[in-house]
Amino acid sequence: MNFLKFIFVIFIIPFSAVFAQENQKIKEKYVLVIHGGAGTISKSSLTPELEKEYKSALKEALKCGQNILDTGGLAITAVEAAVKYMEDSPLFNAGKGSVFNHDGVNEMDACIMNGKDLTCGAVAGVTNLKNPIEGARLVKDSSKYVFLYGDGAQEFCLSKGATYADSSYFFTDFRWKQYIKAREKDTMILDHDTTSLNYNYKALEEIEKFGTVGAVALDRYGNLAAATSTGGLTNKEYNRIGDSPIVGAGTYASNRSCAVSCTGKGEFFIRGTVARDIAARMEFGSLDLNEACEKTMTRLEKIGGSGGFIAVDKRGNFSMMFNTKGMYRGVVTNDKKASIKIY
Ligand code: ASP
Repeated sequence: MNFLKFIFVIFIIPFSAVFAQENQKIKEKYVLVIHGGAGTISKSSLTPELEKEYKSALKEALKCGQNILDTGGLAITAVEAAVKYMEDSPLFNAGKGSVFNHDGVNEMDACIMNGKDLTCGAVAGVTNLKNPIEGARLVKDSSKYVFLYGDGAQEFCLSKGATYADSSYFFTDFRWKQYIKAREKDTMILDHDTTSLNYNYKALEEIEKFGTVGAVALDRYGNLAAATSTGGLTNKEYNRIGDSPIVGAGTYASNRSCAVSCTGKGEFFIRGTVARDIAARMEFGSLDLNEACEKTMTRLEKIGGSGGFIAVDKRGNFSMMFNTKGMYRGVVTNDKKASIKIY
């Protein structure tokens, strides 16, 4: 009996206390915001059927993340799940639907970051990972590094259990046609033929839908997380890497301020360290989320950048801002049903 009492005092009571404390930490509030890229998205090229498909894919992606947050799961798990769903859809420029580079190869980048402890992981230039975001998560959790590139990144992720996909898995007719158009445009620019250039400029506008995907979340413990995944830009050359896998440029999360995921012409987002810029304005300038996003957008525009970003802060405020015609986006919270928008 004395022994049982001893066990109770030493183990059960402290365990219950910790458990109760953890439970107390559970707040009502959670938020999940996603994007499926920004860009010209002209109403004429988006048929009602296609619009429906996009909206339903975004809704499902939100559901994947919401199920996790709703049952007390972590923000980092929710953003990974939402991005993974969009990577598996051929509609977005990430995973399955990735665009082709100049050599006709799908070369993908992804990044994930946990605002709780600033741990993060990223992969770039991977060609055979079914879900690059899974690779980024493995780099974050199971390597001593933050950012891996190319064959080495792939080798590491596959050794840790990432799913392999043959290049044929990433082939979609739609992306192939975009790629051919983009290559044609290169030729036209060299020709300096203004009439043809105008025609091809229009063609390029059609191509310029930055279908990158991203998610940011606040969980019930007050943690923030962000994830971004992309095939980059159609017809990109020389192993070009965009902003998406770069911590502070296309992706950032800190519990001290906010979580951000960007989409747009990566070069400008890298130059503007856009994701971190929003967080820094909150941390050092005491701006609220919306003010910080507005100021960063103005700064991005000043250097010629176009695109958008989604962000959520520790209080559950969120923002979805873009300076293009549209941005595929959605949000769900503990007390509001999913809302999906394109324009
Ligand atoms: N930001 C991506 C990149 O530059 C493109 C995109 O957002 O679609 O690689």
